[in-house]
Amino acid sequence: MTSIDVSPDRSQELFARALELIPGGVNSPVRAFRGVGGTPLFIKSASGATITDADERTYIDYVGSWGPMILGHADEEIVNALAEAAANGTSFGAPNELEVQLAEEIVAAIPSIEMVRMVNSGTEATMSAIRLARGLTARDKIVKFEGCYHGHADSLLVKAGSGVATLGLPDSPGVPASLAQHTLTVPFNNAGALADVFKQHQDIAAVIIEPVVGNMGCVPPQPGFLNSVRQMTSQHGALLIFDEVMTGFRVARGGAQQRYDIRPDITCLGKIIGGGLPVGAYGGSRELMRNIAPTGPIYQAGTLSGNPLAMTAGLLTLRRLRDETIYQTLEDNSARLCEGLSSAAAAAGFRTVTNRVGSMWTSFFNGEPVKDWAGANKSDRALYGRFFHAMLDEGVYLAPSQFEAGFVSITHTNDIIDQTIDAARKAFQHVS
Ligand SMILES: *Cc1c(COP(=O)(O)O)cnc(C)c1O
Repeated sequence: MTSIDVSPDRSQELFARALELIPGGVNSPVRAFRGVGGTPLFIKSASGATITDADERTYIDYVGSWGPMILGHADEEIVNALAEAAANGTSFGAPNELEVQLAEEIVAAIPSIEMVRMVNSGTEATMSAIRLARGLTARDKIVKFEGCYHGHADSLLVKAGSGVATLGLPDSPGVPASLAQHTLTVPFNNAGALADVFKQHQDIAAVIIEPVVGNMGCVPPQPGFLNSVRQMTSQHGALLIFDEVMTGFRVARGGAQQRYDIRPDITCLGKIIGGGLPVGAYGGSRELMRNIAPTGPIYQAGTLSGNPLAMTAGLLTLRRLRDETIYQTLEDNSARLCEGLSSAAAAAGFRTVTNRVGSMWTSFFNGEPVKDWAGANKSDRALYGRFFHAMLDEGVYLAPSQFEAGFVSITHTNDIIDQTIDAARKAFQHVS
């Protein structure tokens, strides 16, 4: 008997339906596999370090919902707590104790934050932080770095890395030129360029930065760079905004500001602090944060902000992360992964550069060190796409773009990491 494989591919079927109903079939562009080709997988469930697609195929997952899942997927304690919280009501539109508890947890972990306002996404956090900076300084201009992504608010969608870069889009239509003109951009890791901008412009409200970039792939700050940024902003009366939506509670409990010992004026958080539910937050000193409504005139609000389910998942995640040994384990396991990936690449004759800070990393198909967007953009994206698909075939789900960071969770054990390295050896052979 001849066996013919007639099993329908559920992901393809679902994607075809989605394409009719949702722009590009996805609710966020980076999910569309445009950077690597092919059909995105529809995920049905996830557990620990793995995700399972609509066709019941299971993969080791290094996307981790793009950063939040530092404890792994469907953590039992969190799932149980969410069920309990849901039974008590899913939204009140009134204050509740969980908001206070999560705020206490954040303030205890990050000394530059004395007061914090919860929002529903990282985009809202950075948008609100910019408004606060402009309101406080009565200046309009902001400086961002090429390839840094700070969400999709109008002022920040300029040379914005991540999805925009993956799609090769110019800065987005729909952002008024009269607004974009207030956003100045300089290359990451280039203190000289920032100094020039400060010489040319007197009215800079704030400099916003991903202190470790994740959104052009992982690019760490060069020694001394963040210190220079801190010093120049102070000198010119501009506020320093650390966008730690990705790095907060990721590269250290206290974020990149702890790791590099820099005190920003405003910090944006998201991802991990929501434990996989939609959350963002921004915070700073009492003196600064008092200017936000209702105590101050700078307006910002949210129907679902401080949502009890989101606060529950975030609170339990941050409490678990009090255990500092977790960060050492993440560091060790991630180092093991990156060394394994590098040697697998080298063995197959590929030139790659692997950047890593803590448990976020990127292997660039690039012969030179990557320290800014121009460098990241020299990577061989087509080759990355082939490697990505070869890894999928081996049961490993990497970010579907060269310009994204990968994430290791506490459920990525040494066994799982060794399986990944074996998969990479085969994938590199296959690609070469
Ligand atoms: C993910 C991310 C954002 C945007 O957060 P959303 O929740 O997707 O709106 C902003 N800044 C950085 C650094 C991010 O990684």
